[in-house]
Amino acid sequence: MMIPVRCFTCGKVVGEHWQEYKARAETHMGNEDPGKVLDELGVERHCCRRMIVSHKDLVDIVAPYQ
Ligand SMILES: [Zn+2]
Repeated sequence: MMIPVRCFTCGKVVGEHWQEYKARAETHMGNEDPGKVLDELGVERHCCRRMIVSHKDLVDIVAPYQ
């Protein structure tokens, strides 16, 4: 499933950060604090962070049915 390329609220490009966020915050290998990863990726606005974090939640919900 593709993440939306831009934040719906402010238009910032967030899709390009998704893969790195996922690799660093969501794998067993790199279980970093999600908030810290977003800070380092430059995703500072709450609206943009929500785009990435909620995308993760959506994947978790949908994945068992695929
Ligand atoms: Zn935003």
